[in-house]
Amino acid sequence: MKEVILVKYGEMALKGQNKYSFEDMLFRSIKHRLHNIGKFQYSSAQSTIYIETLEDNIDLDEAVEILKKVFGIASICRACICEKNFADIQEKSLVYLKEQLEDVASFKVEAKRADKKFAMKSPEICRELGSAICEAFPELTVDVHEPELTVIVEIRDSHAYVHAGKIKGAGGLPLGTSGKAMLLLSGGIDSPVAGYMMAKRGVIISAIHFVSPPYTSDRARLKVEQLCDKMTDYCGDIKFYCVPFTEIQEQLKRRCPEEFFTILMRRIMMIIAQEIAKKENSLALITGESVGQVASQTIQAMVCTDAVCHMPVFRPMIGMDKTEIIEIARKIDTFDISIQPYEDCCTVFTPKHPKIRPQLEIIEQAQQAGDFAEMIAKAIENTELKLFKMHC
Ligand code: ATP
Ligand code: MG
Repeated sequence: MKEVILVKYGEMALKGQNKYSFEDMLFRSIKHRLHNIGKFQYSSAQSTIYIETLEDNIDLDEAVEILKKVFGIASICRACICEKNFADIQEKSLVYLKEQLEDVASFKVEAKRADKKFAMKSPEICRELGSAICEAFPELTVDVHEPELTVIVEIRDSHAYVHAGKIKGAGGLPLGTSGKAMLLLSGGIDSPVAGYMMAKRGVIISAIHFVSPPYTSDRARLKVEQLCDKMTDYCGDIKFYCVPFTEIQEQLKRRCPEEFFTILMRRIMMIIAQEIAKKENSLALITGESVGQVASQTIQAMVCTDAVCHMPVFRPMIGMDKTEIIEIARKIDTFDISIQPYEDCCTVFTPKHPKIRPQLEIIEQAQQAGDFAEMIAKAIENTELKLFKMHC
């Protein structure tokens, strides 16, 4: 029996003229991710992409699992292809859904008639197929309110399709439809989630990470690389920049008041991230900050960090509680990596009493006293680049 995967778009179906480029990006993402599983034939109509197998023995469950991580997809259905006549729909439904129907006590049929010329109306299809199913599986009862299984019949232009419901897709917009931005990636819980949130809106992500050996270990850097690697599942290929930050942190400790240490460090991180972002045509920065979470994440502190930025700084977790962020981190499988207990450069020389409401002018003066320009240029020059490729 011939099967197809029906991929339905999310909000990009609403994008008017842009729809075609969005569709094109989505096609590319899907083809790229499925190319190692087998040969498929792709087509599209009515805000749906049709993926049919061109080889036997393709594992469609695996294909569905991969598609669940592709942004721009609202839902996925694995369906059986039928001729557009009721006899074929009935015959194939009973065989195709046999195991699932045997597994439940109640069901209902839903019909979607995109082709309004089809001879039978939706209620009639539901009634007729419902009674055929009852006859073939006499233990089953019909429950139109809370069925254990919903059999869906879609009558479309060229064929009819039968399936047992849709699986939720990753949502959002296809990768590459919203430009590029650079994520400040720490080893913590929040920043990988921030990267995921922006990638979900179609943004291509690069990552930048600051290390301070010997205060931070190789193992700590490896943990961040592991996070980056995991993020490729959703975010696609990621360029990872690793910035040597020791000299700057030591200078900060020597030259600047202790209470300003964190805020000045964050400003310098932003300056460096921004320079590297510009070089690779990223248009914005992304951080995992959330208002009030720690001393450096007060609004006043953000005013001070943003004062050195010429590009927008996106903080997609800004209004979220830690528990909400953790929920997403678990979903995208970064949580268990993030909670490995390795030090981050942010925890090196952390002041006991950081300034919670810093004033911009005073912070600017303190930074000048530190005389960081040369060190910043050197850190940028010695930044290492590594590419993390999506596994497919
Ligand atoms: P996270 O869980 O993302 O580490 P956090 O709650 O620990 O966040 P901070 O340590 O204050 O908060 O960091 C705030 C943000 O600064 C992070 O979300 C991240 O975007 C960026 N950041 C912190 N440390 C680094 C680092 N070593 N390299 C790159 N970016 C960093
Ligand atoms: Mg952190």
